[in-house]
Amino acid sequence: MPIRVRLALWHGAIFGAALLVFGVALYAIMARHLASMADEGVAGRVEHLATALRAANADGRMSNTLVIPPLDTFEEAEVYVQVLAPDGAVLSRSGNLKEQSLPIPQGAPRQGEFSAVLGGVEVRGSVAPVAIGGSTAAWVQVAVSNRQREMVLQRLRWALIGGGAGAVALVGLLSGALAGRALAPVSEMAETARAIALSRGFDRRLKAGNPRDELGQLALTFNEMLASLEKAYAAQEQFAAHASHELRAPLTGIRGNLDLMGMIKDMPEEERQQVLGQVRREVERLSRLVNDLLALARADTGQELELRPVELDAVVVDVYRQVLPTANGLDLRLATLEPSVVQGDEDRLKEVLLILVDNAIRYTPQGGTVTLALRREPPWVSVDVEDTGMGIAPEHLPHIFQRFWRADPARSRDRGGTGLGLAIAKGIVDQHGGEILVASTPGRGSRFTVRLPAHG
Ligand code: ADP
Repeated sequence: MPIRVRLALWHGAIFGAALLVFGVALYAIMARHLASMADEGVAGRVEHLATALRAANADGRMSNTLVIPPLDTFEEAEVYVQVLAPDGAVLSRSGNLKEQSLPIPQGAPRQGEFSAVLGGVEVRGSVAPVAIGGSTAAWVQVAVSNRQREMVLQRLRWALIGGGAGAVALVGLLSGALAGRALAPVSEMAETARAIALSRGFDRRLKAGNPRDELGQLALTFNEMLASLEKAYAAQEQFAAHASHELRAPLTGIRGNLDLMGMIKDMPEEERQQVLGQVRREVERLSRLVNDLLALARADTGQELELRPVELDAVVVDVYRQVLPTANGLDLRLATLEPSVVQGDEDRLKEVLLILVDNAIRYTPQGGTVTLALRREPPWVSVDVEDTGMGIAPEHLPHIFQRFWRADPARSRDRGGTGLGLAIAKGIVDQHGGEILVASTPGRGSRFTVRLPAHG
């Protein structure tokens, strides 16, 4: 059920309940008020009649006959009057009673109120004794019909029920209309969101409403989310473009070389070996690229690391031994090596160091030096990979950790680089809660420092 309708129903129901309580209270007060007014009217008439009776018989007690003044002067529409003898016999009654008499409660007259049904109409009355010369000479009985009172109450009932129902309906409709107006931006947002989802037009934005109300805030948050989605989507597109471009180059090389071998049937053995060597290098590059892409994908999907205490000094020595044979013409040194333990994934940490040392070797000309060092600097453990190579220009430093970024693409590619190494290394170090720092002077060399939180 739409929120608009639900709100309208809720408001209608709450207003209806309040109106019901109010109506019932009003009706009860009114009914009681009308009843007491009727009672007062009856009491006044009883008093009046008794006074008239006493006046008419002020001296007539001797003759022993009660003089009853004409009762018709006391009657009014729907006011009935009756005079009874002390034994309850009806002595006289107003003309509007015709053949009927007012009932005497419990047979004998007794002072008090009574109600009865007279000709199908409910009446309410009172009986009182009239004392003349010290004894009860008669009883007077006055009753008024409830018809008028009933009519007023009935009208009130209808007014309350009809008016109440109308008011509840009006409140429901108005509240629905207001809620509809207030929620219109939400429908608009939903429409835009759907359109964006379908078209992937993450550059679209919602109309900014009043930033101080909830919907304005929602639009603002939504736009922020769109901005970050736009960025992520653009980065993903760029990544895919870069990746396919990088993959295409070796593939084109391989195809070209294979075509060449196919075309030249009697290729001299030496040339054939050259072409095959080139194909092999391209295949190696392809597999390195695929491995790097896989490593990145693994980091992007947030794959859990297997965290264990790792003896980093052993890892550094391991890396040193592994790269030693590739450091042709370079002086690969192992400087300070303080025993240190970090909490991490040993394979991933080794990957980081291999990337850094491999870069240092690749970007350092023959005769240069690459130094590895491991130091404890509580609360960190730092690994330095320092080279005396070509260095990195200050304007390039902010980019080196970006995916596929290379200061000199042709040169990096020639040296087997994919432009992903540092991005992968940074991803792994970030996952370990550490950081990679770099200091470099063009022409003098670079120093990459991996800082990891020390364990224990
Ligand atoms: P690549 O595969 O190209 O080496 P990386 O992500 O490992 O990709 O490095 C990005 C770029 O940073 C490199 O292309 C290179 O220009 C620069 N770079 C990285 N390490 C060094 C270094 N030790 N000395 C000089 N330049 C470096």
